Parts: sequence; structure tokens; C-alpha cells
Amino acid sequence: MTYDVLVVGGGAAGLTAAAYAARAGRSVALFERQARLGGLVQSVNRDGFVFDMGLRAVESAGIVLPMLEELGLHLEYVRSPVSVGIEDRMIRVDSKASLADYRDLLVRTYPDRTADVDRIMALIERIMRDMDVLYGIDNPLFKDPMRDRRYLFGTLLPWMVRFVATIGRINRMSGPVEDLLDELTDDVGLKGIIGQHFFKGTPAFFAMSYFSVYLDYLYPRGGTAALMGLLEGFVRDHDVDVRTQQPILAVDPEARTVTDRDGAVHGYGTLVWCGDLKALYRAIDAEAIADPRLARAVVARRAELEACRGSDSVLSLFLSVDEPPATFAAVSEGHLFYAPDARGLGDLHTRGLEELLARHADGPLPEEPVKTYLDAFFARTTYEVSIPVLKDPTMAPPGKTGVIVSTLFDYRLTRRIHEAGWTAAFRDHAAEAMIAALEARLYPGLGAKVRSRFMTTPVTLESVTGNTDGAIIGWAFDGPRMPAIHQMQKVASSVRTPIAGVLQAGQWAYSPGGVPMAILTGKLAANRAVKGARR
Ligand SMILES: Cc1cc2nc3c(=O)[nH]c(=O)nc-3n(C[C@H](O)[C@H](O)[C@H](O)COP(=O)(O)OP(=O)(O)OC[C@H]3O[C@@H](n4cnc5c(N)ncnc54)[C@H](O)[C@@H]3O)c2cc1C
Repeated sequence: MTYDVLVVGGGAAGLTAAAYAARAGRSVALFERQARLGGLVQSVNRDGFVFDMGLRAVESAGIVLPMLEELGLHLEYVRSPVSVGIEDRMIRVDSKASLADYRDLLVRTYPDRTADVDRIMALIERIMRDMDVLYGIDNPLFKDPMRDRRYLFGTLLPWMVRFVATIGRINRMSGPVEDLLDELTDDVGLKGIIGQHFFKGTPAFFAMSYFSVYLDYLYPRGGTAALMGLLEGFVRDHDVDVRTQQPILAVDPEARTVTDRDGAVHGYGTLVWCGDLKALYRAIDAEAIADPRLARAVVARRAELEACRGSDSVLSLFLSVDEPPATFAAVSEGHLFYAPDARGLGDLHTRGLEELLARHADGPLPEEPVKTYLDAFFARTTYEVSIPVLKDPTMAPPGKTGVIVSTLFDYRLTRRIHEAGWTAAFRDHAAEAMIAALEARLYPGLGAKVRSRFMTTPVTLESVTGNTDGAIIGWAFDGPRMPAIHQMQKVASSVRTPIAGVLQAGQWAYSPGGVPMAILTGKLAANRAVKGARR
């Protein structure tokens, strides 16, 4: 069978692409290698505890809610306020005024650094004004300005003037956040507490805009995967041929066909690739391509991508706790960013980790030195803690609480541990160290109340989704070069590939990725595919 549009990958990007292509009346197939759709965005029920395996809350970013409205979908959600904590101090972030509390938190933690803190605050305040412009209106891609004159003249045109000024400032802040922090302070702890929350080399604007993102978080009733559930319902209702547990293993760009795991061949007018991008180029047999220009383009792009790494990944610990939600509600909101040690990581996770890996480059990674590293890392890293039952009371059995604790984590370290054969010991050690970091000041006695626990590592994420290096937002920022479009004004071209009839969307197409950008690029790809099919 030949489809007008064949989508590979059923995450946020693929579901969006399939939804919009089907809505435009095209014949659409969606192939997903896992048993469930949603990609990284999953919510699972373990004995009555619902855990969000991927993102802990959704930021609309002027994209998610307008997309749902355009598709006629209704998401039940609550606002999801955030707490920020350092050691035993905690603030609640629920409005722009909370920035004053954040300043106060930092000044109390670093009393000799008031001037540095004020410089940082002034910058965050300016960036929040830019964010008000960037995400301040419903994204025009999900509106119909030609029909909606009020939106066109009252909202879009005045906004475009402000957007042009803002985008210039954003582009000027595209250097790594670490360099920016070096300019603002020489206090290692203060730099760490602000910077270690982000992927290495994160563009400064993106990192420093997080205070605005906190105010935008919403939590879907039933878990973050409820968002994916709505999109899945839409594609199924619109006759998309959904094939789960069916990875696409080969692509023939000249015949415009793909081959699935069972060896079945499917034709396409346009292929929209929403999975790992290295996998696309590995799936093409360049030597079998007759057109030498196309063959050269495929080989060149493959070589370029093979030289690039995925972003930092994430390690998550899921705890079923025999303690009522009220105990946790007394400490923080249901979504918390927490640093247990004001000294921060310093260069432990950068230079320290590189030295550790280099020292043992020629043999299996031994347990003892790595455990020493892990103890220091888990005592000083920043945690994202999510407590779903504080956002939706149905998310845990009565009187009990599910707690999700995660931290950015290096893929190579988990891969090397896996290869050395002590993953189970690593998981136990990491879980104990993470619980100890939270017990010290945040939740005394937590460990004794944990009834069951499980963990996902960067290697888990890689094996489930096929994502290079277990990445969650696409390419590494500190790699040799960025092989994806990363400027907002060029986002429309991020879905193009050098191969006629093949488009890309999702976290590997635009950097930095994330759910809103996966949705945006998914729709851009669908629009292009629909136009192609019309021709
Ligand atoms: C713990 C965690 C926290 C996060 N926090 C946030 C956050 O706060 N905000 C935010 O915006 N984002 C966050 N993210 C990232 C966000 O979830 C992802 O960037 C986004 O979901 C990516 O969507 P995607 O469709 O591009 O890719 P994915 O979700 O990776 O989906 C790709 C899909 O393609 C499938 N696939 C791959 N290859 C093939 C093949 N050959 N054939 C068939 N199927 C294939 C995979 O199985 C997968 O289902 C977080 C992620 C995690 C894990």
C-alpha cells in the first residue's frame, strides 16, 4: 500500500504530523517501534501509583494549547506551580513577583555575593520580558490569520514588530550559559546552582529563560501522557493506519518505500521521519542509490550526523512511598527544583567526569572509583522532583505518595557501567545516594517509607526510543557543531532534508527540542507534506 504521508515515530512530533496530515484528508500511516505511542512522554500505573516517565509538566509556550484548540481537542489540566529549593530554604514560584523571592533565596544562600545576584536577577528580568514577546501570543502556525482578522490586526501584526527586536537579542545570547555565568560571577557555588540545572553548553537565552517557563507549566489530569492520548485518539479517529511495535528498518528514497520489521514494504508520497535522525541515514543504502547527487548528499549528511552526539540524558528514580501527600505538600509544591548543597557540582561533572572516564579508557569501568564519583555527584547535583498526587489526587492510592526524582546524567557513564556488567549495583547505589540527598534536609526518614522503587537511566531511554545517547532534547550543545536549525526565525526550514520526499520533525530537527518544538515541527512537516501531495 502507498500512503500520501508515512510518519515514522509516534512521539509528540509524529503524532502531530500524522494528525494534521490526516485532518487535511491525506492517507496517512504512522509506524512506531514501541508498543505504545507517545515516545518519551509516557505515564505508567504501578500498583495505583501513576508515574510520568517523561516530562513532569507541560509548558504550552504558545503552541500546545493553541494546537489542541485548532484540532478541537480538550485537555483537562491544572496549573502546576513550581518550588525552588537550596539546602533547607524553599520558595514558591507562582507569579513574576516570585523573582523577588528567588533573589532573596540566592542572597541568603550567598550573602557575600549580593551584587552578583543582582546582576543575574537583572538579566533574568530582561529575558522574562523577551519571553513575554516570544511566547506571549498563540503561535501563528496554529491560527488562521487570513480568516481571523482580529487576531491578524489586533495581535499578530503588532507582535511581529516586537518579535523582530526580541529575536535579535535572543540570537546575541546563543553562546553557552557557562560563559555568561563566568561574566556575571566568579563564585563557583552560585554559578553551579544556576547553571547545573541545564544541559552542558545550553544557549544562554534558553537557560536563563527558565523562570518564565516555570510560570507556564500545566499538569494534565491523569498524567502528562494524557496530552499524547488526545493526539492518539485524534489520529485513530481520522483513519490513520497506526502500526505499533513496527520499527522501520530500511528506506529507499528513490522508490519512495520503507521496509518494516516483518520485511513488508510500504510506499509513500512524503516520508516524515520523527525518530532518531542517525537511524534514518543508517536505514538508507547509499550504494544502491542510482542518482549520484542524491547518493553523495546522503553519505555527506550521514557522516555529519555520525560525528555529533545527543544531549545530556536524564536519570530518574520512581518511588512509591508509604506516607500521605500532606507530608510532601508541607514541604513544597508538586514540582520542585532542588539543590541539596549550595556548593553545587563545580567541575565534578565536567572535568572530573572526563578525567574519570579517561583514566579507565582502556578497560572495564571499575566500581569503586565510580561509586566515589557518584556519591559526590548525587550529594551536589540539582534534582527535579515531581509529586503527581499533589497535582491530581487520583495519581496515588489513598494515603500514599508517588515521588519522581531526576537529574541530568551523562550517557557515556551509564553505557560504560552497562558494558562493565554492574548496572544492577549501579542502580542500587544511585538510588540510595539520591534518597540520602533528599533525606538530609528535605524529607527526613524518606528511605524507611519507600515501599518500592525503580529507575530509568540514559541507557534505558536509548533502548526504548532508539534515541542516540538517550538524548531527550536532541543534539548536544557542546558537540563539534550543531547539525540542526537553532534559530527561531528559520524554524520553517528545520523540517527539510537533502532527500526529495523526506522530511524530518521533532527533537532532532530543531534545537533545543522539547514537546512544544516537537509539536511545532510536526505541524510544519505536515503542512509541507500536504502541499507536496497536492502537487
Ligand atoms: C525525564 C524527561 C523530562 C523531560 N522534560 C521536559 C520538559 O520539561 N519540557 C519539554 O518540553 N520536554 C521535556 N522532555 C523532552 C521531551 O519529552 C522530548 O523532547 C519530546 O517528547 C520529543 O518528542 P519527539 O516526538 O521529537 O521524539 P520522541 O519522544 O523521542 O519520539 C520518537 C519516537 O520515534 C520512535 N522511533 C524511533 N525510531 C523508529 C523507527 N525506526 N521506526 C519506528 N519508530 C521509531 C521511538 O520509539 C519514539 O516513540 C523531557 C523528557 C524526559 C525523558
